[in-house]
Amino acid sequence: MTGEIYKQALARLDKAASYAKIDPEAVEKLRHPKACLEVSIPVRMDNGTLKIFTGYRVHHNDLRGPTKGGIRFHPDVSLDEVKSLAFWMTIKCAVVGIPFGGGKGGVIVDPKELSRMELERLSRGYIEQIASFIGPETDIPAPDVYTNAMIMGWMMDEYSKIVRRLSPAVITGKPIPLGGSQGRDDATARGGYYCIKELEKKRNWDPKEIRVAVQGFGNAGQFIAEMLHRDGYKVVAISDSKGGIFRPQGFDVPSVIHVKNNSKELQAVYCEGSVCQLVEATQITNEQLLELDVDILIPAALENQITKQNAARIKAPVIIELANGPTTFEADDILQRKGTLIVPDILANAGGVTVSYFEWVQNKSGFYWTLEKVHQALEEIMVREFNYVYSVMESHQCDMRTAAYIHALNRQAEAVVAMGTHHYFSQQDTNKITVAAMS
Ligand code: NAD
Repeated sequence: MTGEIYKQALARLDKAASYAKIDPEAVEKLRHPKACLEVSIPVRMDNGTLKIFTGYRVHHNDLRGPTKGGIRFHPDVSLDEVKSLAFWMTIKCAVVGIPFGGGKGGVIVDPKELSRMELERLSRGYIEQIASFIGPETDIPAPDVYTNAMIMGWMMDEYSKIVRRLSPAVITGKPIPLGGSQGRDDATARGGYYCIKELEKKRNWDPKEIRVAVQGFGNAGQFIAEMLHRDGYKVVAISDSKGGIFRPQGFDVPSVIHVKNNSKELQAVYCEGSVCQLVEATQITNEQLLELDVDILIPAALENQITKQNAARIKAPVIIELANGPTTFEADDILQRKGTLIVPDILANAGGVTVSYFEWVQNKSGFYWTLEKVHQALEEIMVREFNYVYSVMESHQCDMRTAAYIHALNRQAEAVVAMGTHHYFSQQDTNKITVAAMS
């Protein structure tokens, strides 16, 4: 049965296909995930009881390369969500032109309720269940919501034990001493940052005049807030799962990060050395943050945050989607009518998978890059693909998401056509002549 999120993903596919002249067989192949695996993961808890967790791994499409996509630990994980995230990965890898298809994984769990040892047992147990479904040449996981570099290290170690050889290329986003890449930690945010810098040029922005709101203050949210703050942008609102803070003068972002990561509390603070003091800020909800009068809104938490219920009240003229799927299909239409520019997730957050690709290349070659080389290679790809998608948007007079889909579908279709479609296979006579000429 097709769930609501996957239906939304397909609606976007159909919309883009109606704009672009794509072979219908290429579109049809993308409608169906290649394989979906559901597993039960038994975990011995610290108090001696046995708990069974449910996990998923989906291969969406591997025509352009092995499937690639993160693993999410969250109580709301569902097969529908994992399928949709895997679909977006296929499209995303095609948007930035890296040789991967789309995959995704997830476990239904609230990791905040687990001890560190329970979390390690769950992470290893998940890999034990999916080991035959992943591999350096078949399907390569990475971090996503509530999973991090240390968890990737445990997972790589578990997989290596199962296959009885060290296999760093089976997973990306690992700690650097375990074969991780320089620059993978902030890559998702950095890709979005390069998109903003291109927009800055196109729109003649003066950073100190530009007010930014960031929803979600984990990996993606913290790094983008820090990069923009460093360039002089005013980060005026920040939120996490418990709610948000708003300060029209802007936050001292490094201090907020310092306090959030040490206390788990999101507070407006200013730190000098080790001395931190609270500064005034208004408490807001996540819903209020989305509707603030700001110049750039950055959803960096979960999907389905901007919906037909609140889209008309979104004031930001520019949205940079660092989260996957934060805007629903219906909300897209409302925002497009208002003239809002949405830099879509499949482009804005593609920095993560791009540096994951670099990590995989380094693991396979055994030759490791400098941070400068990673940044340079990422910037080159993001700037090139951002400007290409922008030009498709202008030439097709469509929104930027549809333009990114058109770009991805063209790349995907090239691979489908290279294998032959009905155009090739229905020309029997031509084939006979070719075979006769060869014999
Ligand atoms: P993370 O776990 O590091 O951070 C998630 C943040 O979202 C946390 O601050 C959490 O408190 C907050 N949050 C959770 N529920 C929320 C809610 N209901 N409202 C507001 N905030 C909420 O995760 P991350 O890696 O930063 O991922 C964030 C988004 O970016 C996800 O959509 C993910 O799929 C996407 N993404 C991440 C990567 C990556 O490399 N990490 C790559 C591409 C896309």
